[in-house]
Amino acid sequence: MLIKTLLNKVERFKSFVYGATQIMLVDGVEALVIDIEARRNSRPACPECHKRAPAHDRQPPRLFEYLPIWSFKSYLRYAPRRVKCPEHGVRVEAMPWAYGKERMTISYQVFLARWAKRLSWKETAAIFETSWDSVFRAVQFVVSYGLAHRTLEGVTEIGVDEIAVFKGHKYLTLVYQLNAGARRLLWCGPERRVKTLLRFFHQFGKERSAQLKFVCSDMWAPYLKVIAKKAPQALNILDRFHVMRKFNEAIDEIRRNEVREFKANKQDNVLERGRWLLLKRPENLTEKQTARLDELLKLNLPSIKAYLLREDFQRFWDYQRYDFAGKFLDNWVTRTLQTDLEPMKKVAKMLRKHKPMILNWFKAKGRLSSGAVEGMNLKAKLTMRKAYGFKTLKCLEIALYHELGKLPEPEYHHRFC
Ligand SMILES: [Zn+2]
Repeated sequence: MLIKTLLNKVERFKSFVYGATQIMLVDGVEALVIDIEARRNSRPACPECHKRAPAHDRQPPRLFEYLPIWSFKSYLRYAPRRVKCPEHGVRVEAMPWAYGKERMTISYQVFLARWAKRLSWKETAAIFETSWDSVFRAVQFVVSYGLAHRTLEGVTEIGVDEIAVFKGHKYLTLVYQLNAGARRLLWCGPERRVKTLLRFFHQFGKERSAQLKFVCSDMWAPYLKVIAKKAPQALNILDRFHVMRKFNEAIDEIRRNEVREFKANKQDNVLERGRWLLLKRPENLTEKQTARLDELLKLNLPSIKAYLLREDFQRFWDYQRYDFAGKFLDNWVTRTLQTDLEPMKKVAKMLRKHKPMILNWFKAKGRLSSGAVEGMNLKAKLTMRKAYGFKTLKCLEIALYHELGKLPEPEYHHRFC
């Protein structure tokens, strides 16, 4: 039969053959069911040690969901033998198309997981008429396979970042590899404490940590402490993205206070919908937004002053020389401390305190891509948005590894030619 021929071309399982194919009802829906039989005289393999041993008995047939064929749901049907392993006792045999008790075949899981990378998990489930939970399990399987089979060699540049999850009450710490051509998520874990990052270094291992040359991070004290301890040879850089994020937080705080005051004094809120105007770089604004920003700039408002201070600081990153950049930073800090913009003064003090680490940026210049951390952060946030509806951190971690981990996939088509 044609289906059998096709299947043999696509995927063959050693010691098993395809049998009859029929259309029958599965869970009330017409589906293709393809029988699988063990080769005559073959002995079952133990699921633990994979050694072949005599069959003990045979169980009733089970269905394993396979790739849809011409929009039919399809299943492999097989009656597993129990193997009598001298070491592990009587166990259900290892079946090369599925892992453990999973009812989905490996091929189907890889297939679903590939779609779940392009669509949301909910959409994937809807398209393939399966449950959200099946999609989740498929992705989880592919991710755990990928994590177990990936290589961590050649990691010399990393970035430590955090994102707020569940409306900002919780954080996830993310560690990216930043080497050109090999940017990926290496690790993620809940919270942003000393022990969080220690867990990464512990899993990453001493030898690999000793190979690190650059570590980009936020000026978050627990991070700095752990990096200094676990990778003392690496240059810890407070990178542009992380530094400028502090500016944005300060501008936002000033703007929020102002809007509150407008309301309290029953004044017009001239800053209405002004948030993005102030947070975006001017070159990223539309024409209309630019015109509105020009209007705002005429007003002598604290948030506008803060905005101008930030734009002025952008020049810092263009310096070629380390010492000139340092002078510029001192100068900017002095000017800002003379203003009455408390959140900006806090930024200034932070810059002064961490000056050497910020200047490390210039030591690494040309060797480290300026947008690397920002790019990964953006992707992580997109994944989070796509994954909207996840109730647990675990789900989110799996989604992040899946999208950003560049993990190797289980072999899709097994060929034993
Ligand atoms: Zn065994």
